Amino acid sequence: MLTRRPRGTNDILPDEAARWQAVEEIIRGVCRDFGYGEIRTPVFEHTELFQRTAGESTDVVRKEMYTFQDRGGRSVTLRPEGTAPVVRAYLENGLHAGPQPVKLYYLTTPMFRYERPQAGRYRQHHQFGAEVLGSLDPAVDAELISLPIELLRRLGIEDLGVRLNSIGCPNCRPGYVAALREHFRPRLDDLCADCRTRFELNPLRMLDCKNEGCRRHKEAAPRSVDYLCGECADHFQGLRTYLETLGVRYTVEPTLVRGFDYYTKTVFEVFYTDLGAQDAVCGGGRYDGLVEELGGKPTPGIGFGLGMERLLYVLADLGRLPQVERGITVFVATAGDDVKPEALRLVRDLRRAGIPADVDYGGRSLKSQLKFADRYPARYVVILGSDELARGSAPLRDLRTAEQRDVPLDRLVQELAELRARD
Ligand SMILES: [Zn+2]
Ligand SMILES: [Zn+2]
Repeated sequence: MLTRRPRGTNDILPDEAARWQAVEEIIRGVCRDFGYGEIRTPVFEHTELFQRTAGESTDVVRKEMYTFQDRGGRSVTLRPEGTAPVVRAYLENGLHAGPQPVKLYYLTTPMFRYERPQAGRYRQHHQFGAEVLGSLDPAVDAELISLPIELLRRLGIEDLGVRLNSIGCPNCRPGYVAALREHFRPRLDDLCADCRTRFELNPLRMLDCKNEGCRRHKEAAPRSVDYLCGECADHFQGLRTYLETLGVRYTVEPTLVRGFDYYTKTVFEVFYTDLGAQDAVCGGGRYDGLVEELGGKPTPGIGFGLGMERLLYVLADLGRLPQVERGITVFVATAGDDVKPEALRLVRDLRRAGIPADVDYGGRSLKSQLKFADRYPARYVVILGSDELARGSAPLRDLRTAEQRDVPLDRLVQELAELRARD
């Protein structure tokens, strides 16, 4: 028990963490180029925030939340998704009072869902997501959809598609929901228990059912795009035009509804075309009623979330993981304890000069230190002994070429800085 992590969690070890960092750096670059600022919200929030926003009928709220009472008797929930906390922070910190729209992103943010663990699905997973608040312009939708596409392009993935749908607004949705109920009512006996609950709570969710028996009943279901009011229809047409302007390939997918009740108008998924059925890399949608739901003035918003584990998995699968360098630049090997103070000072000076350096801490023989430096791997080794200290210079070995030469001790840092700059 003590040496086993909880089910559905993962340890990210240094080699893998280095790859995450490389991907994160590319993500930060894209967000900077698109004008999005980073936001970091707490890991837990008042439970009510997610109950109010995600919707009582969603799987997340019904069975997947990590909810508990803290020692003060308050109900808190580990963040299951990124949008509601960002909207809460937008209101709480007065971002709604400044220039609009406000464009935000969050990165490698832990999310918690009590799901059955399976390949690539974790109870604690990490997301990159972006949210734009304060604009109803369909050009904003087009920009937000093109952001993950640009990211994936920079990561070397070009074979992407977008599934797009509009699920309307509070004006036109009731007409569509009524049509859905009419369609599913005579088929209820054929549907799974979840879908029968969804039929009562939110029939839109029925289009999302992964159950094989339910899936065939949604083929002939009415399409939300046929029930849009004038405003929603214009918005959808505007978005389609802008996506075409930006060269984003998309298909309209009438059964796409996404997982949360707060979505209005635009919903979308970006998928990699070679991944088969479970192929969405990221997804999101517009949530024009969410700010009001949390007590703010009516304010439109749109966002997406992208699972980091999934992204890394896809990149690995395609051989597109960023190359990262392991190891260190300089290893200072010591012959005898009496030179240790000098070695520690040298390593300090190298590090101060921004040169990654390390030293032996095990009191190992020179031979095993050199072996260790090789496996680190180190690029250069400096060998310090009392003879070297006495004559004021030490051998510097290039582990790549196996060349070795003496360098004056007071020139070592500068010499290594020059070598490193040339590498
Ligand atoms: Zn509408
Ligand atoms: Zn079902």
